[in-house]
Amino acid sequence: MRRVYLDHNATTPVAPEVLEAMLPYFSQRFGNASSVHSFGREAKRALEDARETVAEAIGARASEIIFVGSGTEADNTALKGVAWALRDRGRHIVTSRVEHKAVLETCHFLERHGFEVTYVAVDRYGMVHPEAVREALRDDTILVSVMHANNEVGTVNPIAEIGALCRERGVLFHTDAVQSFCKLPFHVDELNVDLASFSGHKVYGPKGVGVLYARRGVRFEPLLHGGEHERNRRASTVNVAGAVGFARAVELAAGRLEQEVAHLTELRDRLWEGIHQRVEDVHLNGHPEKRLPGTLNVSFGGIEGESLLLSLDMKGVAASAGSACTSGSLSPSHVLDAMGVPLELARAAVRFSLGAGNTREDVDYTLEILPEIVQRLRALSEMSR
Ligand code: PLP
Repeated sequence: MRRVYLDHNATTPVAPEVLEAMLPYFSQRFGNASSVHSFGREAKRALEDARETVAEAIGARASEIIFVGSGTEADNTALKGVAWALRDRGRHIVTSRVEHKAVLETCHFLERHGFEVTYVAVDRYGMVHPEAVREALRDDTILVSVMHANNEVGTVNPIAEIGALCRERGVLFHTDAVQSFCKLPFHVDELNVDLASFSGHKVYGPKGVGVLYARRGVRFEPLLHGGEHERNRRASTVNVAGAVGFARAVELAAGRLEQEVAHLTELRDRLWEGIHQRVEDVHLNGHPEKRLPGTLNVSFGGIEGESLLLSLDMKGVAASAGSACTSGSLSPSHVLDAMGVPLELARAAVRFSLGAGNTREDVDYTLEILPEIVQRLRALSEMSR
């Protein structure tokens, strides 16, 4: 059976070039980057080269790049770290209702520990408007965190404007750029960000490595205490192979960003147009234009997204649901809910996320099997009424 992977927002395969770059750091160049001997120095050199590469890609200084364990860790460090460091200046944080759980749950934690959080509303496309952020700012606001692009619907936020207004008010601005990285240009000065989170496994790099960008002078308390790694900002022996892999992934992406965007946009639009032509009662979730090139979130009226996913999986197509299964009942995604998508349609949502390895044939195969599955599920749900 043909297997088609349309879930690249969940994770991506490691690119062969990335794997090749990493391999020596598991075997002959296994040194601890903190050791002073030649093995250590060799690892340290690779680590610092990787740091340079990542810094250059986003217009930052090498000293502003901190290697961490994941996108989640970068988000946690940014939010908890700044909150702790600036708690005497203020205890109010602004974020949006559509953030990833790595940000939302961290905010909930902070609320349990004496901070106040304002969750800014979004429009029907899931976009956060700078005006809404401006209205949420208070004299005791210490941090604003708004994601660059949404992982479920792909909507891209005007973060340069949000960053600019934060700077005007002297408030730090963090963005979760896990989904936009290597898909959209990212330059820390052009986007006015003070802190940003990135993850290796979303960009054809390995799992278990992420990056936190923290502008020079931004104070934050580390999440992990211990050794003096990463200039005292993240204790723990550094994952050198991971950092090398991350940097190689970034290099590869930088060299083919334009082609990749064109490729993904073409496939995404082909998929949507095909669905739209072949299936009735379908709804596009997310911004029609200001959206990640490979992300397509669609609600199929009258069916559960989960059932559609399972049927697609049986035919070899891997996608993802717009709803999460909690304690046996399907709860709609908080993103679609914030966008005002009616419950029925939120439950009927499926996310297709395309990637570098996808072809037109993948899209055409999906379009070939999809109408019949939808028809069958709709008939079943009619019968059970
Ligand atoms: N932020 C966003 C927007 C994401 O999509 C994800 C992963 O799904 C994360 C953070 C978490 O990244 P990681 O899986 O590296 O912890």
